[in-house]
Formats: sequence, C-alpha cells, structure tokens
Amino acid sequence: MADFPTSARVVIIGGGAVGASALYHLALAGWTDAVLLEKNELTAGSTWHAAGNVPTFSSSWSIMNMQRYSAELYRGLGQAVDYPMNYHVTGSVRLGHGRERLQEFRRVRGMGRYQGMDLEVLGPEEIRSVYPFLETTGLSGALYDPYDGDIDPAQLTQALAKGARSLGARIERFCPATGVRRETGEWVVETPKGEIRCEKVVNAAGYYAREVGKWFGRDIPMMVMSHQYMLFDAIPELAAWSAEAGHKLPLLRDVDSSYYLRQEKQGFNLGPYERNCRAHWITPDDPFPEDFSFQLFPDDLDRLEWHIADAMARVPLLEKANLTKVINGPIPYTPDGNPLIGPMPGVPDAYEACVFTFGICQGGGRREGSGRMGDGRADRMGHVVLRSAPLHRLRGSGLLHRQGDGGLWSRICHPLPASQLARGAGQEALAGA
Ligand SMILES: Cc1cc2nc3c(=O)[nH]c(=O)nc-3n(C[C@H](O)[C@H](O)[C@H](O)COP(=O)(O)OP(=O)(O)OC[C@H]3O[C@@H](n4cnc5c(N)ncnc54)[C@H](O)[C@@H]3O)c2cc1C
Repeated sequence: MADFPTSARVVIIGGGAVGASALYHLALAGWTDAVLLEKNELTAGSTWHAAGNVPTFSSSWSIMNMQRYSAELYRGLGQAVDYPMNYHVTGSVRLGHGRERLQEFRRVRGMGRYQGMDLEVLGPEEIRSVYPFLETTGLSGALYDPYDGDIDPAQLTQALAKGARSLGARIERFCPATGVRRETGEWVVETPKGEIRCEKVVNAAGYYAREVGKWFGRDIPMMVMSHQYMLFDAIPELAAWSAEAGHKLPLLRDVDSSYYLRQEKQGFNLGPYERNCRAHWITPDDPFPEDFSFQLFPDDLDRLEWHIADAMARVPLLEKANLTKVINGPIPYTPDGNPLIGPMPGVPDAYEACVFTFGICQGGGRREGSGRMGDGRADRMGHVVLRSAPLHRLRGSGLLHRQGDGGLWSRICHPLPASQLARGAGQEALAGA
C-alpha cells in the first residue's frame, strides 16, 4: 500500500457518472489534490445499466440548465479528454394529449429559448414528419427537442475519469470507504487500504448515499426503486428507414402514458415509468444489501403490460419485434425527484452529490453564467456538480452561505449574493442572465 494516498484536499466517495464528473470538474477548477474512492469497479452502481438517455427537457429552469450543460459537455468530452465514445444526438418527440400539456410545452419552449435551445411545438399533423412510424390518434401536438440524445454511460464515466486522472486527480478502485471521523478540523476517511486525511468529503455514493450519510449523522431522504427497460430485436423497416435517413429515430416520450421509446441499434428500447412501481430494501425481510455491485433485480414484466400495449398501439412497428432483454436495476429517488447537491446540512466541510434519479443526463452538473447554450467560458466549467444554489433553493433551504470552507465552495460553487437568495426559481432565470 506504499502508493496509497494518506492525505488529500478532497475525497469523493463513489465512482459512478456523478462522482467521476465531480472529480473531473474539481480537477478542471484546479483541485487536483483530489481522490475518488470506488468500492468496486467504476460504474458498479446504477451507472453501468442506465439506458443512457440525455434529455434536456425539464419544467424546472435549474434542472433544464443542468441537463443542457451536461448535453453540451458530453458533445465535446470525447475529444477534450481523448476518449472516443458513443453519443448520439437524435432529438426527441414528446407527445401531448391535451391543452394543458401543450401549454406546458409552450412554457418549456420559452425557457429553452432563453437557455439558447430552439425547441419546437408541433401540431398533430406535423409530428409524422419527424417520426413517421407514429399513430397520431388522440394527440394534440408534441414538443420537438433537437438536442436530446443518448450516451453510453460506462464510456461517459471512463471519459470523465480519464480527464480527471490526466489533470492529476486520483481514483482508487476496489477501495470502499468504511467510515469517517472528524479530527482536529479535518476529515479522516477510513478504508481497508488505509486512512486518508482530507479537508472535504463528498458523498457521491448513489443508492448507497443513505448508508454513507449515516456516518455524518445525516438522515438522507431517499428511497431505492426498481426501474426497468426492455430491449427488442432488430426491425427491418426501422433499419431501412434509418439507413436512408442517415440517423436514428428521435426518442419518443409519452409522459401521460409514462414511457419512452428509443431506437437502440436497429431495434427499440422501451422504458416505462411504472404505475405500480416497487421500492426495495425498506423492510426487515428485504434488508439493504452489503454489496449490490453490477447486479440487477429479476425481471417483472407483469408490471409493464399496460405500457407495452400502449406503446405498441402508438408505434405499431414495435409489435413486429421480439423482446430480447429486460434490465431491472436500482434507481434512487428523493421525495421531489431532484438530486441532492451541495453542502451537507449542518456538517462542516462535507458535501453531497447523490440520489440522482437521472444521473446520466444531469451528471455533467451545470455551468454558471448566462446559462445559454454555447456560452463556452472555460473558467465557468468548474461551476458544476457541487453547485447547490438552485436545487437547494427550490427546496426552500438557505444552505448557500458557508463560511470557512477553505475556498472549495467559492472555487467551484460561486454562491449568489444574499439579495438573490430570497428570490424564487423563476426570478433566478433573470438573475442568471
Ligand atoms: C434501468 C435504469 C435505467 C436508467 N436510465 C437512465 C437514463 O436513461 N438516463 C439517466 O439520466 N439516468 C438513468 N438512470 C439513472 C442513472 O442510472 C443514475 O441516476 C446514475 O447512474 C446515478 O449515478 P451516480 O454516480 O450518482 O450513482 P451510482 O452509479 O450508483 O454510483 C455510486 C457509486 O458509489 C459506489 N459506492 C457506494 N458506497 C461506497 C463506499 N462506501 N465506498 C466507495 N464507493 C462506494 C458504488 O459502488 C457506485 O459505483 C437509469 C437507472 C436505471 C436503474
């Protein structure tokens, strides 16, 4: 263990997409004396089996900003760190079934435009021009987002890790953090390979965040749900259309029926957000596992029947394909579905970047500044995963102003002035311009 680091400025616990992104962005911001601990191999938690959808859509300004920044980051990341990866920008079609949904689309289109994205609201007769296989009965319109896409989550994580390492940050794989203690104003992170003394600790432990949080006396509000998607065989008509068009079909999302349907190679990936969803690891007969690395839950197709039938009625082409694989994995949720990002409440020099339900599309973090697409001020690249302002503010907690953190916060987070803290999320949009 001669090479094991005994001290660092910051230790990140967890090597999924989010932990790797936090490490990369810290290193970019000059915090290269940073160590990431991963108890198994990188991506072993939720990241390895994620579907990899990277939407920019959100009805929240802050979440849209994170997703927009992430999409923008991913577009250039492979080249920036010299790690080529699969990232397809396919666009997406979000279906509307009524007036209220279209009203939402128009609002989001306005917000998107303000962030530099040209989203389009389509009438029912226009949808088939971007998605020819669609049955449009009952639709009132759709939102077309040309920036939507999908990425290989494992490649993304490895690219972020490579970028971080090349800047001098360290990653210790197969090295679980087993506890922490506070000593003379520093944190000591315990591992089987030795202890690391550090100024700051970040909990990026994904669905294990609650367990890690307990070491700090923190009761993290979260649940682990199971989430499934299904992969279907190649469909000749789809393959032919794709070959002629020279690109994949846009992702189709129906939030009212609650699923997405995406082209995966020459077949489909159907991912429902279930009506009868299931929580795990909450009862004495289903205890939290010591280790769940690279594991899945058994398939549970009965729960998905309604969504499969609905998707087949909407895209009849899907009926022609055989179901080849089901992925059913753990996905963490907070009560409002937003991730926890920023200082750990009441705990000095400890931070959270965890409980991401959409950690692939939000994992890049966000950029401060104008918040517009293409605003590529390199000095802003560090204002990312650990920047808590908007998300915490949406929850109404005033956690921004921390004193005496040795500069980490101001280096990577740039808190807003107190005058802006009192404003609501909508006004933040104007303040950030
Ligand atoms: C079926 C499915 C499909 C999904 N599809 C999408 C999608 O299309 N788009 C999207 O944006 N999101 C998707 N998600 C969600 C996405 O997978 C997660 O939000 C994301 O992977 C979270 O990344 P993370 O880094 O926060 O957590 P994780 O990937 O879970 O990483 C946490 C890491 O911490 C490590 N760890 C835990 N405890 C310790 C410890 N004590 N010491 C050291 N290491 C520790 C774990 O081993 C793990 O590697 C999907 C999820 C599921 C289940």
